[in-house]
Amino acid sequence: TADELRSLLLGCIRDVPDHPKPGVTFKDITPLLADPRAFGAMTDALALLCARHGADKVVGLEARGFILAAPVAVKAQIGFVPVRKAGKLPGATLAQAYDLEYGSAEIEVLKDAFAPGERVLVIDDVLATGGTAEASLQLIRRGGAEVAGLAVLMELGFLGGRARLEPSLAGAPLEAL
Ligand code: AMP
Repeated sequence: TADELRSLLLGCIRDVPDHPKPGVTFKDITPLLADPRAFGAMTDALALLCARHGADKVVGLEARGFILAAPVAVKAQIGFVPVRKAGKLPGATLAQAYDLEYGSAEIEVLKDAFAPGERVLVIDDVLATGGTAEASLQLIRRGGAEVAGLAVLMELGFLGGRARLEPSLAGAPLEAL
């Protein structure tokens, strides 16, 4: 059941106080990755979302989104596309800048990553402020694809990411396991 999945996954996430800086509680998924039952259940649940939302491709956000999204792509039998931090991808890219608490960051995708109209499900581990996810949704649309949805393992509700993402989701689902 959904409740069993939820407690299996929650039991494998470690809270690390004051990482990477004071006041932040880091959600560490390495115990989940080390547990094949939990990792498998998460992968199955995310692959089911790909089918439910008609995804043709899955995008993983660097770096932990890669770890989650790659086995999902194999399980769902669809392609995987990496969205990377700026300066890593070879060839022509689309770039999207977004604001951080201090300064800004930039992510990129290969220009030819998507076929026109392809439906893309974005996967990451943690939704915090939603800045990274928002930039990735913009990249996907600029790349000519359609947003099938955004799926995360965990949503930190108190940071208001869901409300921030409402305009860029434009009706597409936000799923948090
Ligand atoms: P944001 O753009 O604020 O939604 O931040 C999301 C990105 O930062 C995700 O890729 C997460 O992996 C990471 N992140 C933010 N906050 C946390 C946290 N408390 N624990 C673990 N990862 C986090």
